[in-house]
Amino acid sequence: MIKNLFRRSNSSKENTEQRRPAVTPQHFDYDEDIIKTITKHPKTKEDEMFIRSAIENNDFLCSLLQNQKLQDVIDCMYPESVTPNEIIIKQGDLDGSHLYVSVTGTYEVIQNDEVINSFSDVRVFGELALLYNAKRLATIKSKSFGKMWLLDRVVFKHLLVRSEMEQHEEIVGFLQQVPKLNSVPKEVLEQVASLLKLEFFPTGTTIVEEGDTNPDTFYIIKAGSVTVSKKSEGLIDRLYRGAFFGELALLKAKERKATVTADAPGTECFILNRKQFLEHFGNIPDCISINFQIQPYKPMEELIEHTDLSLDDFKIVNTLGIGGFGRVELVQHSSKKELVFALKCMQKHIVAAQKQQEHVFNEKDIQISCKNNFIVRLYRTYKDQKYLYFLLEPCLGGDLWNHLHKHKPRQFEDQVAQFYAGCVIEAFAYLHERRIVYRDLKPENLLLDAKGYVKLTDFGFAKKLQMFKKCIKKTYTFAGTPEYVPPEIILNQGHDKAVDYWALGVFIYELLTGNTPFRTDDVSYMKTYKLILKGIDDVKFPLDVSVQAEGLVKKLCKSTPSERLGCLNGGVMDIKTHEWFDGFSWEKLAECKLPAPYRPNLKTNTDVHYFEKFPKDNMVPPDDNSGWDENF
Ligand code: ATP
Ligand code: MG
Repeated sequence: MIKNLFRRSNSSKENTEQRRPAVTPQHFDYDEDIIKTITKHPKTKEDEMFIRSAIENNDFLCSLLQNQKLQDVIDCMYPESVTPNEIIIKQGDLDGSHLYVSVTGTYEVIQNDEVINSFSDVRVFGELALLYNAKRLATIKSKSFGKMWLLDRVVFKHLLVRSEMEQHEEIVGFLQQVPKLNSVPKEVLEQVASLLKLEFFPTGTTIVEEGDTNPDTFYIIKAGSVTVSKKSEGLIDRLYRGAFFGELALLKAKERKATVTADAPGTECFILNRKQFLEHFGNIPDCISINFQIQPYKPMEELIEHTDLSLDDFKIVNTLGIGGFGRVELVQHSSKKELVFALKCMQKHIVAAQKQQEHVFNEKDIQISCKNNFIVRLYRTYKDQKYLYFLLEPCLGGDLWNHLHKHKPRQFEDQVAQFYAGCVIEAFAYLHERRIVYRDLKPENLLLDAKGYVKLTDFGFAKKLQMFKKCIKKTYTFAGTPEYVPPEIILNQGHDKAVDYWALGVFIYELLTGNTPFRTDDVSYMKTYKLILKGIDDVKFPLDVSVQAEGLVKKLCKSTPSERLGCLNGGVMDIKTHEWFDGFSWEKLAECKLPAPYRPNLKTNTDVHYFEKFPKDNMVPPDDNSGWDENF
């Protein structure tokens, strides 16, 4: 029966797929005090050159580090000498937090006790540790005396974030000098600043041409200078850092009155394009009338239910799943048989060992405050010496991953994908109105209820964003599942709700093709991250993906967060009215009156046949009375 729902396809994707784990997030907050303690380490010109070339020859790092960022990183690397037979990195270690550059010495690469490679050149290794605590995939052992330069993740992240913040402040400062823009409130300029892009013009490039009747770009000089000339008068001016030109092009197409050329050795400019400016701020008659995108904001409230039920009232019927911290059990009330729940049991000592306490609090606070048809309801929580318990709405249709990947041809027709994407969009709209970012969209985290509607669950990575000076503050922790992570998370630029719209693009692509756009076979995900940084325009869409769907995915997966559909002037409506959704009834969906493409066949309210069978587990976890859950 399921078969008719799926697109016919000859492509046989027989890969034995598995549900994809998210990375374990290591909380990161930018800390001015840490910045003050970061020191530069002097190095010889030769060593500096070695480090620079090693980083530039590393595919992943060279896309992460350029110009000042690269220099900052080189300056802060510190030396370490090695003696023969030292284990520098150990396979399986979970808490690696350093990047290494070998300058002298010979090193062996060992996997499962077998030497698979050796090297004595200048090279980078251990770079994934700069992003998060990733399991080390091989052992690196020294074979001789040698010298390495090291970089610590906390230092690295602080350097990157500081550099982003400084650049942002610099742009806002420049914008404040521009007539017309300087009367706009600073919080609006902060938004304008997020639209500017850096571009380098080699010596002699004509940046603006006199007589061009359709100009659409505004420029601010970041470095270098430009020559301004007119056909009739010759050279009329030279402009330097902080100067700007072409500002009228933001508002209307006005003929360019002069030619602007880059001087030697080239000019670096921040540029802003009219189309993006208008998409973000709407059609405005004058810069002065730029308005903040006033997002409706709804406060969060605790919506506890079933306060009369205690844990002793329930009997375990079956296990529904095993998560990172314990099992999720289907439970039924001993006397009131109609009362059935999913009980997520989290072992406190594992939460503490993995330093995930803050994320568990977030998960509870956020999910309990959500009451929406497209989000799994958390009614209440319990706790004892060993566990924290989440009493959840049961969704017995299984997860969407199962429906997508366990049935050939492992891809959905457009109408089916529209329905599931529609449910996710409704959930996101609800969350974003409350300034909550979800951060872990993937088919594994969507459960089908008895009607076949999908609901978002697993709020372990969700986060409520704070306000700072009338702006939504970005957040910096690396969170998510590698194939779904957007560039700004990899680049440590700080992120907001735009990460969810990027993930929505990846999700729609996966529903339609059975694959994600940036997937590779690299178990360390380094290659995936490299592809993500290259961008969606380098992805070749399968021919059976419609132009409309491809157009939507590309608009959601724009590399610059502020350009993504969902983050523009029209907000989420821009997505709902995109042509891929033509004919889709959003009203019926919102009222749960749209028939779902697949309605699970559930015989009783405790039917678990959509779930795998899990063996019994008689292990009793240790008590955790350390008290971290006092306020839970
Ligand atoms: P992970 O770290 O593996 O993502 P987790 O600890 O966050 O796991 P969940 O993802 O919330 O736990 O749940 C684990 C599994 O339990 C899910 O994949 C799903 O199969 C099942 N499950 C969770 N909540 C429910 C529910 N409300 N109804 C039915 N099944 C559920
Ligand atoms: Mg999960």
